Amino acid sequence: MDCLFCKIIAGEIPSAKVYEDEMVYAFKDISPIAPIHYLIIPKVHISGASAIDESNSKYVAHIFEVAAKIAADEGFADGYRVITNCGEDAGQSVHHLHFHVLAGKKMGWSADSGV
Ligand code: AMP
Ligand code: ZN
Repeated sequence: MDCLFCKIIAGEIPSAKVYEDEMVYAFKDISPIAPIHYLIIPKVHISGASAIDESNSKYVAHIFEVAAKIAADEGFADGYRVITNCGEDAGQSVHHLHFHVLAGKKMGWSADSGV
């Protein structure tokens, strides 16, 4: 399958790893929009948030557990934001489910991400 994030998981494309376990992989976003900008992705190919169902929602739950662990380990003491973009209007550019983890600055809030 021609999927950028599947290739990153397979090690075919280099990435800056932050965390990995049997279910998920986390790495630095190549084009950060905040001082800390990580992506957490499931190790199975899920096309996006609209493809989450009872068969794969365990990955989403685990991704939020991992986000909390990374935040605690790295000391995001003042908070962090988790975002997923789904579909064209939201600007999803990679069609492998991913959650952006943003931290390191005081963020605003708007439908255009607020960052
Ligand atoms: P989205 O626009 O929500 O689909 O997010 C895709 C994200 O993937 C963007 O923030 C990109 O900067 C990021 N991205 C694209 N290619 C790479 C890569 N090779 N390594 C790390 N992050 C990437
Ligand atoms: Zn994929």
